[in-house]
Amino acid sequence: MLTELGADAVPVRRESELDSVEGLVIPGGESTVMDKLSRTFGLAEPLKQRIADGMPVYGTCAGLIMLSDTVLDGIAGQQTLGGLDVAVRRNAFGTQVDSFETDIDMPVLGDEPVHAVFIRAPIVDSVGDRASALGVLSDGRVVAVEQGNLMGTSFHPEITGEIRFHERFLDKVRAAG
Ligand code: GLN
Repeated sequence: MLTELGADAVPVRRESELDSVEGLVIPGGESTVMDKLSRTFGLAEPLKQRIADGMPVYGTCAGLIMLSDTVLDGIAGQQTLGGLDVAVRRNAFGTQVDSFETDIDMPVLGDEPVHAVFIRAPIVDSVGDRASALGVLSDGRVVAVEQGNLMGTSFHPEITGEIRFHERFLDKVRAAG
């Protein structure tokens, strides 16, 4: 997605690699594993520092969990990087077989609704004063949030080729640079 949009994208697994980037996408996957590995490989503290310094970060699904200040239904001892003033509940829609797709109006991205794919997705249980909701389901549950240079979605835009979130992220990277 990032390369298609003209960015120079590299994987970040080590602190030296983090030092070389101006923005970060934390993808979907498994937040409990991301948490353990980022602490084991000494990436968690540098990541927290970069987030505090204002680096633009976009988290999708597990990435949203990593960015949230509070995780609900985490495993014992699960930590997050934090930054987003939200509480996020893991696996809030059920298990893998409860994965689903739906259209969501997101006026901030334009008139065209977002076709969103939810895979063992979290929901944003509560949005603190510093964060704001970008997108909500028809039942009112929040699934996309933003706070300054931080953005998170419960769903995976990259799966459907929805480019507007990554464009918005890259706008933030350009503005920060
Ligand atoms: N359920 C996963 C977690 O808790 C997230 C799933 C995903 O990223 N698609 O981290």
